[in-house]
Amino acid sequence: MTRVFNFSAGPSTLPVPVLEQVREELLDWRGTGMSVMEMSHRDKPFMSIATEAEADLREVLSIPANYKVLFMQGGATGQFAAVPLNLLNGKSGDYIVNGAWGVKAVKECAKWGQANTAAKPATFNQVPARETWTLDPNAAYVHYTPNETIEGVEFHSIPDVGSVPLVADFSSSFLSRPLDVSKFGVIYAGAQKNAGPAGITFVIIREDLLGTCNPLAPSIFDYKAVADNDSMLNTPSTFSWYVSGLVTKWIKSEGGLAVIGERNRRKSSLIYDYIDSEPFYTNPVARADRSWMNVVWTLADSTLDAEFVKGAAAAGMPGLKGHRIVGGLRASIYNAMPEAGCAALVDYMKEFVRTRG
Ligand SMILES: *Cc1c(COP(=O)(O)O)cnc(C)c1O
Repeated sequence: MTRVFNFSAGPSTLPVPVLEQVREELLDWRGTGMSVMEMSHRDKPFMSIATEAEADLREVLSIPANYKVLFMQGGATGQFAAVPLNLLNGKSGDYIVNGAWGVKAVKECAKWGQANTAAKPATFNQVPARETWTLDPNAAYVHYTPNETIEGVEFHSIPDVGSVPLVADFSSSFLSRPLDVSKFGVIYAGAQKNAGPAGITFVIIREDLLGTCNPLAPSIFDYKAVADNDSMLNTPSTFSWYVSGLVTKWIKSEGGLAVIGERNRRKSSLIYDYIDSEPFYTNPVARADRSWMNVVWTLADSTLDAEFVKGAAAAGMPGLKGHRIVGGLRASIYNAMPEAGCAALVDYMKEFVRTRG
């Protein structure tokens, strides 16, 4: 068996110890004689998996007691609708847009109510300066995307938006470093970037924001209904819930989010430092706003992009093609990407310049 260094943006690489445990438990989960995939979500074995996954997530993120944790479906894209459906309550929503996912969130909100674009730079290669934001103090919430996965732009601090609830699409940087959850009204994230396999969506919501859902919203998107039913209003994505729970345990065993965050900073610096030292490669993002999770770059000669990607895949490093809307190259280096993977990528980049640059 050979494992590659998988730089895919999502679904993406998972920690090997997690995959090994899944394999170990696949046919018979702890003496039940069945796989987690085959269990009723209402029976004790799965209930224990679900409860433990929530407790571990609460522990690693230090989630305050006045927040609910929901395990939903429909991905972050579902949340683009669920957020306005639950929170607008006749008001408008402010959106800070600094990339393609933020653009989509605005569009979805506009179907259900008023979406105000409170900041949107002409090019998506920096976080818009806080003093340029035109926030409405009466907005139902301020929505932003802490890490724009496609452009490789990340907020490295939490913006101050006063008393208006802050809502964040953390899909591509969830669990990548310590986070002060108390600064947020709602945090949501699809699991498949940094926290597990596709199929489960984490929603962390301050309790006082529950109970204002649009009555025409589908029940499965009503935060209060989901919370009241312990995320089992309908059949949850049981297998993803289980595997993402193992990923959270893996984070604990690695030393928690402080250790993981420091490692992520180092991993991204390794690649950025090399890009900055080599004129053949360019990263277009303002230095202070470069993502720790998704490193993007261009080649001095873009006709070599396909050859770069193909050669990397042949060398055991698939997934480096940039998103189709921006082109270029992208390395997604989520928690489960080892430092050795980033070092191998830099070695490949050096060799590519030497032979083709
Ligand atoms: C991947 C991604 C999404 C879309 O997630 P789905 O689970 O496919 O709906 C939304 N926002 C961000 C920041 C992402 O990285």
